[in-house]
Amino acid sequence: MRPRPVLREALPASRRRLGWLLAALIGLGTLPGWSPAADPAATPSPGAPGSTDPTVPVKGLFISLAGSPGVGKTTHGERLARRYGIPHISVGKILRQEVAARTALGQQAAPYVQKGELVPTSLIASTVRNRLSSPDCRNGFILDGYPRKLDDLGTLEGILSDLGIPGLRIVGIEVDPAVVIERMRHRRVCERGHEFDLKQRPPKVSSRCDLDGRPLGPRADDTPEAIRRRFQVFAQETTPVLALFGRRGDYHPVNGDGSIDEVFHRLAAVIDRLGAEPSPRKPDAHRR
Ligand SMILES: [Zn+2]
Repeated sequence: MRPRPVLREALPASRRRLGWLLAALIGLGTLPGWSPAADPAATPSPGAPGSTDPTVPVKGLFISLAGSPGVGKTTHGERLARRYGIPHISVGKILRQEVAARTALGQQAAPYVQKGELVPTSLIASTVRNRLSSPDCRNGFILDGYPRKLDDLGTLEGILSDLGIPGLRIVGIEVDPAVVIERMRHRRVCERGHEFDLKQRPPKVSSRCDLDGRPLGPRADDTPEAIRRRFQVFAQETTPVLALFGRRGDYHPVNGDGSIDEVFHRLAAVIDRLGAEPSPRKPDAHRR
């Protein structure tokens, strides 16, 4: 199979859409020739995201959802998990819960989590193994933001091999960094972590959380410096993992420009197709 484009190689494709993006950003609306509505996979559904999605039962859909900071992995991961009836597993979320509960793991992981650095693989391997061994993972899972680096991948492939789980496929949400940074500027959160987007999903009452009425503000790690650092970590650590999967033919990029519904429908179209295919090869021994 032809190697799939991986992030950097795939950027020229996003550049071809740059005309539309620039036009949208400066308020000129869409240009003829390409618009979200012209995308055959994009059929936005009315109502709140996730509320009207049909469920599509699957067997053996082992997916890792990847993408740079701010592309919406968690939003889409949760919604995809509902669509396919498989668990959404966010290692970052598990870690934040462990930190909050001050478990032994939480205390070791806390300094990394607070700085926005990657928690060492050795610390989280047993947590990942325990979670993936649960009976609810037998039919598949949506792993969110993991593996984050080559060390994670070696550990994960060992775990998958022990559990008899066939090879993992990575679905990558790709967005031009300039667009993501623009989006992060519009992100607001309450202290309990409920997220809003001032453009796409604004709160009903200005600066107040819809769910609990708490004040909304920018996320602590959405400062320009922290955003720059997170992109740097992604480029240095995660891009090599995506490149490796690209060479194996197991990386499936999805254009992440557009509304939440548009991107979700593109993701679902790709993953429906993967779910209909036979499982790929058994996990390979880790190769660099
Ligand atoms: Zn809230």
